[in-house]
Amino acid sequence: MATKLPAAQARLYHNMFVCKHCKAKLRADPKKIIEGKIRCRKCLKKVFRPVRKK
Ligand SMILES: [Zn+2]
Repeated sequence: MATKLPAAQARLYHNMFVCKHCKAKLRADPKKIIEGKIRCRKCLKKVFRPVRKK
């Protein structure tokens, strides 16, 4: 996969978060994540981290 294009990066990672509990990815407004308004649709937990954290 040669996806280093900025547009592709933005599409894949912009506003994307990963559930710390079950690793499900979802796209959401960071503000809502911080405010705790977003729940994982799989496990219903509210703990997320941004994607691409190395
Ligand atoms: Zn989850």
